[in-house]
Amino acid sequence: MSIAQTNTIAPKHEPLILSGSKSKRKFVGIWWSVFVHLFKTHKSPIRVYKILRSSVKMKKRYTKEKKYHDKVALVDGKVYFNCNNAGWPSKHFFKIVDIESRKALYNDVSNLENLRMVQLAFTKKCPLNCEHCYEGEELNKKDVLTVEDHKKIVKKLQDAGIPMIHFGGGDPMAKVDDVVEILNSAQDSSDFWVFTSGFNLNEKNAQRLKQAGLTGISIGLDHHDRDLHNKFRRNDKAYDWAIEGGKNAVNAGLVLTFTICLTREFCTKENLYAYLHLAKDVGASFVQMLEPRAVGNFAGKEVWLLPEHSEVVDDFFIKANRDPEYKDMPIVLYPGYHQKRNGCTAAGNKYLYIDTNGYMSSCPFCRNTKSHILDEEHEANIQQMKNDGCEMNKEIIVKEELVQMDEN
Ligand code: SF4
Repeated sequence: MSIAQTNTIAPKHEPLILSGSKSKRKFVGIWWSVFVHLFKTHKSPIRVYKILRSSVKMKKRYTKEKKYHDKVALVDGKVYFNCNNAGWPSKHFFKIVDIESRKALYNDVSNLENLRMVQLAFTKKCPLNCEHCYEGEELNKKDVLTVEDHKKIVKKLQDAGIPMIHFGGGDPMAKVDDVVEILNSAQDSSDFWVFTSGFNLNEKNAQRLKQAGLTGISIGLDHHDRDLHNKFRRNDKAYDWAIEGGKNAVNAGLVLTFTICLTREFCTKENLYAYLHLAKDVGASFVQMLEPRAVGNFAGKEVWLLPEHSEVVDDFFIKANRDPEYKDMPIVLYPGYHQKRNGCTAAGNKYLYIDTNGYMSSCPFCRNTKSHILDEEHEANIQQMKNDGCEMNKEIIVKEELVQMDEN
């Protein structure tokens, strides 16, 4: 599909992407609210100073590159600077502040409480069988987790104060009634997101999800070209589901992210910018770029990006976020960029993956399966993940060394 064709798409409730002085004002508001929260909670300038000093140290340890964008997305009255962080203002936005405060003052935070985001593979059901699916082997087997299990898992995560819970899959939209039921029974103390192909995301379902408390929808869209996306997703309806589903999500007031698996063939400047324009046309607030990994349906294939691809993607990532020409465009997220520079923050540190059987892993790619999330040993198991570190990161380093040796 050409960009000209996509210009006919007109979302009813487009998000506002703010940059420059407008986004600075929002950041000032956020920081001010954090100060007020800290002073109200701790009632001591010395304690607040200790917390801030520890936060600055942590930021220096984990962030070696300069800030890559100053944009924020404004959706339904809330500010989002990253679709993997809770929106502001909200009660759970301050949970991260509280956790970091406890770490700085008392160092008494459990491994589970320390997580920022948990992805729960909601179901094995999915109408697709995409080229890159990391759950390829599990797809469309009988579901093991019941609605009651999901409620218990969500309760356990919310009791530990997890601010972001993602429902992945399979495709959670294949069991949308269950998603709505679980959202309705959950506390208002986390941002919930659904990761989908766009299947079943009609106007009615988008509204139901919003009313049940969903924050956002992440739709897998792997090409701006209809035929190439459908080929990758092995279904000739996939592109229409993604685009129509995206529009329905935006119109329901949900935050929309388009997530792309960056194949080697896709990594050209033309493709990246065409994709960004399409995402803007549909009303997305974020574009999230994920690098392919040789797991699931990609197992045994040479899919990882080579330096020449990374160079094009890095350049796009910086330019699309910082260049004033793209100031109204969706915010681009590229976890691989930070992973290469700062290391992986998943592996039991900030992120946890729970598979379709309820067992914990470091992430959908590092399947170092540990105990069931409802078992009591989760603390020791998350600690084990932290000790083991990120297998994928080690693999990336080894592959980059091999490429360098080849080049030499
Ligand atoms: S839509 Fe998601 S779960 Fe379904 S086959 Fe594609 S990647 Fe796998």
